Parts: sequence; structure tokens; C-alpha cells
Amino acid sequence: MTVLISADDIQQRVRALAGQIHHDHPDGVHLIAVLKGAFVFLSDLARAIPGHCSLDFMAVSSYGTSTKSSGQVQLLKDLESGLEGRDVVVVEDIVDTGLTLQYMQQILRARSPRHLRTACLLSKPSRRQVDVTVDYVGFEIEDRFVVGYGLDYAEQYRNLPYIAVLD
Ligand code: 5GP
Repeated sequence: MTVLISADDIQQRVRALAGQIHHDHPDGVHLIAVLKGAFVFLSDLARAIPGHCSLDFMAVSSYGTSTKSSGQVQLLKDLESGLEGRDVVVVEDIVDTGLTLQYMQQILRARSPRHLRTACLLSKPSRRQVDVTVDYVGFEIEDRFVVGYGLDYAEQYRNLPYIAVLD
């Protein structure tokens, strides 16, 4: 395993993203995390946002246990509260083909939030199959399969405090 992004670099970047999100949402923000991968990012991000902040969770499945995208997205868990008129930021672990995020944005936009923005810790621009807008990006990375900081391989490695590439 090779460390790609250290724990310190992640923490510094997450604090900067939290500052931007707070700046863009001075009256408060509703964060929607996409489980399971985003749970660590959400936890650090939410604690670094100084203003009002509420949370909700969705679960989608797009990968199974393999390292290749199936391109199919399934809604496993829906939100607990409505989004009408709210300032929403979707919190994603990684945007790869963009299919998962496109699906999320479509179903969330239909619930009439005032603003719908997206934060992702990692982005692989070279893998994109659809044009999705990501407002806050932690790090752009090459086309490598990464684990750690919430991201798994066959449900392992989510607990690593850094991002690593499996050799
Ligand atoms: P997309 O729909 O953009 O192709 O894929 C998004 C989802 O695929 C992510 O939320 C994540 O669950 C998974 N994924 C994409 N790339 C990686 C990767 O490099 N490592 C891991 N662990 N999951 C990934």
C-alpha cells in the first residue's frame, strides 16, 4: 500500500473546504452525506464548519465489492427530512465516472432545495462519463483505485486516516 494523501494534508484541505462552505452559506447549511464512503469526510467537514449545520444521510450502491464501476446506481436509504427551500450540500467521498453523483443530484433537485451544491473529497476527472458540477473538490487524483478515509476495498480500509493506493 502506498500513501497518496497524508492525514495532515487531508485535514488541512478539509478545513479550507469547510471555510468555503461556511462563506457560501452564512445562514447555515444542510449536509447530505452519501454512505458509506463519505462518513469520515462528513465527520471532519461538519466539525470544521463554524455556523449552523444540520445533517442527513443517503445510501446508494454503485460498486459492490469490485474495483470497476457497474454504472448502475441503486437507492438503498433515503433522507429523513424534506429539502424544500433549504441550502443543501451533498457530501461525496469520490467522483469517478460521475454517474452516482448525477443520479443523486437529479433526485435531490426534484425536492426543490433553494441551493444544491456538492462537495467531494476526491475527484478523478479523467474517468468522467457524464458532466456533473462539483462545487467543492478536495483533491484531483489520477485514475488509481484508492482506499482509506472512508473509502473501502471489500469493506476494509475505511478506518485509515490517509488515502492510499493498493499495490
Ligand atoms: P461513480 O459513480 O462516480 O463512478 O463512482 C462513485 C462511487 O464509486 C464512489 O462514491 C465510491 O463509492 C466508488 N469509487 C470510485 N472510485 C473509487 C476508488 O478509487 N476507491 C474506492 N474505494 N471507491 C471508489
